[in-house]
Amino acid sequence: MSLRLAADAERTPSVADDGVWLTCIACGAQFAPFDDVRYTCDDCDGLLEVRYADHPTFEDFSGSGVWRYADALPFDEGVSLPEGNTPLHEVPRIRDEVGVRALRVKHEGMNPTGSFKDRGMTVGVRVAQRVGVDRLACASTGNTSAALAAYGARGGMETLVLLPAGKVAAGKVAQAALHGARILEVDGNFDNCLDRVQDLAARGEVYLLNSLNPFRLEGQKTIGLEILEECYADYGAFPDRIVLPVGNAGNTSALFKAFRELVQSGALRPDQVPKLTGVQAAGASPMVEAVEEGHDEIRRWRNVETRATAIRIGNPVNAPKALPGIRETGGTAVAVCDEEITAAQRALARRASASSRPRPVRSRASGASGATASWARTNASSVSRPATC
Ligand SMILES: [Zn+2]
Repeated sequence: MSLRLAADAERTPSVADDGVWLTCIACGAQFAPFDDVRYTCDDCDGLLEVRYADHPTFEDFSGSGVWRYADALPFDEGVSLPEGNTPLHEVPRIRDEVGVRALRVKHEGMNPTGSFKDRGMTVGVRVAQRVGVDRLACASTGNTSAALAAYGARGGMETLVLLPAGKVAAGKVAQAALHGARILEVDGNFDNCLDRVQDLAARGEVYLLNSLNPFRLEGQKTIGLEILEECYADYGAFPDRIVLPVGNAGNTSALFKAFRELVQSGALRPDQVPKLTGVQAAGASPMVEAVEEGHDEIRRWRNVETRATAIRIGNPVNAPKALPGIRETGGTAVAVCDEEITAAQRALARRASASSRPRPVRSRASGASGATASWARTNASSVSRPATC
């Protein structure tokens, strides 16, 4: 079941709950959204996607933050701190250096716990309440644990986070602990932590809120919706290209889904959809490898290494959703070395006043910001080196 930019609308199945259901992207099986706890397809273990009977247009959005986009989400409101509505900075000096007409940087570090993960958690924790579970868990390189702990605490739930021992910024661990999470350090890397927490979830001991959980990606769609709305308001046009850091490929998948749904509703023409471009650290770049070699699947990298701990991931779980997103939008994926990452951080901090990771330690921040760059109306067709990662 291919993920096409302009696919025909799926018929609403009998398992739908108030116009919401889950569909397997591999075999097309459909499931009720909230009757059972389910992360992957019962039949083939493929990834699930949240599907809707109706898709909104821009006129349907009102209010502020993630829940401005409630008509594109499974609920009218979530467990909120609140989150979203992050600034989209202009960076004129870097824009001129890159040689494009407009360049903006989305500062996701301005979310309540300091990363875009909050957008997914406000939806995911609400779903946990709906399905009636009260123990949440995730594997994390840092940001997810802080977000899960904060939103779990807000919802009055127990939280458990699995972290690779010695490989997570101390501030992020402290943030999760302060919110009352139980922390389990695992010998190994993030992928080993994810394997372990998936085992716990499969045994029904915890509700999994890693980006394998399809509901988290719904909240993360709002990054793309905010970028489109703000660029249109400022330029009267949508961006040509959106550049995203790739860890588990959740945001690439989420933005592609947001744009597909706008195409479905008629709010966006296929030729107006920004080209999705993923950036990985060279030492952890299985997505780049798959894009360059034209593969539909990624090859899991057992050994990954980069200073950018938040994207030190060798087996991006959402690759089957993200690879079609890159291909269908005419985007690409590039790898950058650690020296380039450090130089980009410095450039952002010194020439744009928009800090990338790590952001300055303030009361609600001690780790990565998850900055996203957006090109608007570029005249460059060969953007190969993004200004941020
Ligand atoms: Zn399936």
